[in-house]
Amino acid sequence: MTDETNSLDASPQVLRGIGPSSAQKLERCGIKTIRDLLLHIPYRYQNRTQCSPLNCLLAGNEHLVNAEIIKCEYSYGRRRSLLVTLSDGYGYLLMRLFHYHASQKKSLKPGVWLQLFGEIRSGSNGFETVHPEYRLFDSHPPDPTPELRPIYRTTSGLTSARIGDWIRSAIPYAEKLPNHTFRGLSLKDALLALHQPKIESGQETYARINQALQRIVFEEILAHFLVKRTQRKLLSQQRTISLGPSKQLGKKLLNKLGFKLTQAQKRVTKEVLEDLSKSTPTMRLIQGDVGSGKTVIAAFAAIRAAENDAQTVIMAPTEILAEQHYETFCSWLTPLGINVCLVKGDLNATARKERFEDLRSGKANVIVGTHAVFQKDAVFKHVGLTIIDEQHRFGVHQRMQLREKGKSPHQLVMTATPIPRTLTMALYADMDVSVIDQLPPGRIAIKTTIHSNTQRKALIQNIFRELKSKKTQVYWVCPAIQNGETQLRAAEDVYEELKSLDSGTSVDLLHGQMKSQEKASVMNAFKQGKTTVLVTTTVIEVGVDVPNATIIVIEDADRLGLAQLHQLRGRVGRGKEESTCVLLYQSPISDTARNRLEALRDSNDGFVIAEKDLLIRGPGDVLGTRQAGEQAFKIADLSRDRELIQPVIDMGNRLIREQPALADSIISAWKLSLEDYVSI
Ligand code: ADP
Ligand code: MG
Repeated sequence: MTDETNSLDASPQVLRGIGPSSAQKLERCGIKTIRDLLLHIPYRYQNRTQCSPLNCLLAGNEHLVNAEIIKCEYSYGRRRSLLVTLSDGYGYLLMRLFHYHASQKKSLKPGVWLQLFGEIRSGSNGFETVHPEYRLFDSHPPDPTPELRPIYRTTSGLTSARIGDWIRSAIPYAEKLPNHTFRGLSLKDALLALHQPKIESGQETYARINQALQRIVFEEILAHFLVKRTQRKLLSQQRTISLGPSKQLGKKLLNKLGFKLTQAQKRVTKEVLEDLSKSTPTMRLIQGDVGSGKTVIAAFAAIRAAENDAQTVIMAPTEILAEQHYETFCSWLTPLGINVCLVKGDLNATARKERFEDLRSGKANVIVGTHAVFQKDAVFKHVGLTIIDEQHRFGVHQRMQLREKGKSPHQLVMTATPIPRTLTMALYADMDVSVIDQLPPGRIAIKTTIHSNTQRKALIQNIFRELKSKKTQVYWVCPAIQNGETQLRAAEDVYEELKSLDSGTSVDLLHGQMKSQEKASVMNAFKQGKTTVLVTTTVIEVGVDVPNATIIVIEDADRLGLAQLHQLRGRVGRGKEESTCVLLYQSPISDTARNRLEALRDSNDGFVIAEKDLLIRGPGDVLGTRQAGEQAFKIADLSRDRELIQPVIDMGNRLIREQPALADSIISAWKLSLEDYVSI
């Protein structure tokens, strides 16, 4: 074997039996290397350790059974099937086959014995099993070799059994994994225990599997933690421009704001400004619930950069939000002599050339933009600070691209996604974290109600009546569903429906597929109160601030994650009037979905909701971290494995202090590349 075929990073094609087409299928399961193959852990096991007598079957379970054929006949139900009656002297079982050959019917004759393995279900004539695996015997079958068969996640055209075979043939490669042990097991031992479990007595077998799994999960989370800590260390060795206090322009803004900063805002602003005055690059996450007032903190940071003749780039995930930030920053910063400019995707050639010239010459001090900022020809004079708003909406690569617009600029990322504290420490181990744990005073809690779609008509009437009497405005959200077209249609349908209800109420439509100019004008009309009802998709999820809108209706709320619902709800409750959030669902609704909606109804505190959400289901989509590529875990599930997070953090910090070589070897065992795992 050459070095390349010998390596854990080799393509699975180095194994016998895997050609390009199988390799492609494996890739669809996320398996690109031998290492990935070894780390493809079974998600369950088939228990083939002993035969069950037919009077000991449990519906819904899989059983290994020895039985003799009593009868074999056609059954004419809704679909014709071959029905085989089996007995072992203790009880009966029906085996049903919908697909069969004539020869099969011939071989399945009374007196023949079967050893079968299948899921048992309860039918109208007793226990049944459909298309089980079976083998024929002339007489009572011998005792089976006890087996706990691993079952693997797979993709179409690939059976779990084939993946299992390949994994078995890859096992020798496990020798190449570093041999450090945790809880008495090396990584190789733990993988063997999962792929080829030893059968032991009683619960011992499962206890061992569980132990091996925990050990692997522990190390996987640890590897992620270590790589982020390493990244942090590398960054702290870099040098950048120190943005110290100079012209006191921040004070001017403070006096003009028209509101007093909350204690939390003061504390976080101080933390940020202290960071900026250092000559090591800032890397700080600002976490604050919707409406907690993050924007003004970004403004103080941008002012500080401008005072030091450095440019600030502020990234927003949507044009609507970029537009809004642009206006806010203009009103706050222009009077201080700071030039704010907006970079969007749809500038015409001349405007674009001018705008880009301003970036290059340094005439633009603060640049608010969308993804358009990433374009190659967007060249800056001197970016000293980058700020990413609604960080969870950006991918890792986009955040890296932004960093490359400057030379090790200071970086702030802001998120309204509340993440439980321990999770934050593990996921964002490469950043400092500030939390704005306080809302501006005078906010009235949003009242949230949950309704089945059957109440929709009456609800609409009530809401329209309220719109008239209170002169307020409503967001009417039709959520994103997978298929873009369907989503659009849903919003368009509701738009038509509401528009036809009452000619006295102005209804408008806003969705992501509209031209940006259209979007801006629809949004402006709503801001100025010209539109009463804004039917929209989840494009308004982030950031949008229209204090006079006091009602938000969310259709099909059960389809959205809690974090997203909480964000959407945060569009209201921004003014002096009490606001309401109406969650609609299609009945019937599952218990989990109902629990989630109730968690939202019962709390307005994002952190409380996040904690609950973590208990109700896995954190991936909930926290929005998976889409941002934060959570590239193969095996760990931070909801299921949350008990391990604190021990991982403790161990990780100890390793870095006391055993840096071991820390490196863990990172390399998991082949986490530093580039892939930077948070910004
Ligand atoms: P988010 O944290 O969700 O980004 P914003 O920065 O958009 O919140 O602030 C929400 C609204 O609250 C804005 O209209 C902002 O001007 C206002 N605001 C921010 N801080 C305060 C404060 N300390 N007192 C009163 N209003 C504030
Ligand atoms: Mg915001």
